[in-house]
Amino acid sequence: MSESLIGKRIDILDKGFVELLDLMPHPATDVSGDLAIVNAARVSFMGESKGDDKDRKLLFYLLRNQHTSPFEMVEFKFRVRAPVVTWWQWVRHRTWNFNAQSGRYTAFEETDYYVPSVWRKQSANNKQASEGEVDEDTNARLTADLIAHYEQGFKLYAAALAAGVSKEMARLYLPGFSVYYTWVTKVDAHNLMHFLRLRMASDAQYEIRVYAQAIYDHFFKPALPWTAEAFEEYILKAQE
Ligand SMILES: Cc1cc2nc3c(=O)[nH]c(=O)nc-3n(C[C@H](O)[C@H](O)[C@H](O)COP(=O)(O)OP(=O)(O)OC[C@H]3O[C@@H](n4cnc5c(N)ncnc54)[C@H](O)[C@@H]3O)c2cc1C
Repeated sequence: MSESLIGKRIDILDKGFVELLDLMPHPATDVSGDLAIVNAARVSFMGESKGDDKDRKLLFYLLRNQHTSPFEMVEFKFRVRAPVVTWWQWVRHRTWNFNAQSGRYTAFEETDYYVPSVWRKQSANNKQASEGEVDEDTNARLTADLIAHYEQGFKLYAAALAAGVSKEMARLYLPGFSVYYTWVTKVDAHNLMHFLRLRMASDAQYEIRVYAQAIYDHFFKPALPWTAEAFEEYILKAQE
C-alpha cells in the first residue's frame, strides 16, 4: 500500500468530495493495516506475523467468526464535503468521530448547494426509496426550480447578514437539505465496515451511497486488501 493514499481526494456529486487525511497504521511504517489487525489478534497469545499465508488465513478466520476487536486497531480519518441530506444520514453512525464546519462562524457561499444531475421518481414499492428518473423536460424544469429556489434563499440570507443578523440565524433562509457541508471524521475499520454494509446497499439513498462506495473503492480496499476480500466474502455476500 502506498503513502500516496493520504491526501488523495475523490470528487463526488457536483461539488462534494472525500479526502483521506490520515491512516493508522501510517503507511510510512512497515506495518500494513491488514498486518496490524493480525498482530493485534496474535497478542492474545503474544505472537506476531507468521508469514502471508497464515496471516491472511487468520484474518479471514477473525472476520468469519465475528472476532471484530482487532479490526478496530486500524483507523481512517477523512475530510468530507457533502450536502446536508448526506450529513444528516452519516451522523447517525455514532461510532464515528466528527468535527464539522460551523455555519455560525463561517458564512455560506453563493454556490454551496447540491444540484442533482437527475431527479429520481418515488419508488412504487418502498416508501423510503426512489427508482427510475423523470423525463428530460421535467428534469430540466425541476433543476431550474431548485436553482431559482436556492438563489432566492441565498439572496434572503445575504440580505439578513447585510441587515446585521447573526450567521447562526441568517442561515434559516438557506434551503436546508441541499446546502453543502464540510466535516472531518474518524472511524476504525470495524465500524467503517458496518457503515459500508449499510450505506453501499441498494436501499441506501444515492447521495450517501456514492460516498460509501468511493470510500470503499479508493481507500478501504487499497489500504486493507485482505480485509476487503474477507468483507466481500463474509459480509457483503451474506447480505445479498
Ligand atoms: C436504509 C436505511 C434507512 C434508514 N431509515 C431510518 C429512518 O427512517 N429513521 C431513522 O431514525 N433512522 C434511519 N436509519 C438510520 C439507522 O436507524 C441507524 O441509526 C444508522 O444506520 C446507524 O446505524 P448503527 O446505529 O448501527 O451505527 P452506529 O451508531 O455506528 O453503531 C454501530 C453499532 O454499535 C452499537 N451501538 C452504538 N451505539 C449504541 C447504543 N447507544 N446502544 C446500543 N448499541 C449501540 C450497535 O450495535 C450499532 O449497530 C436508516 C438507515 C438505513 C441504512
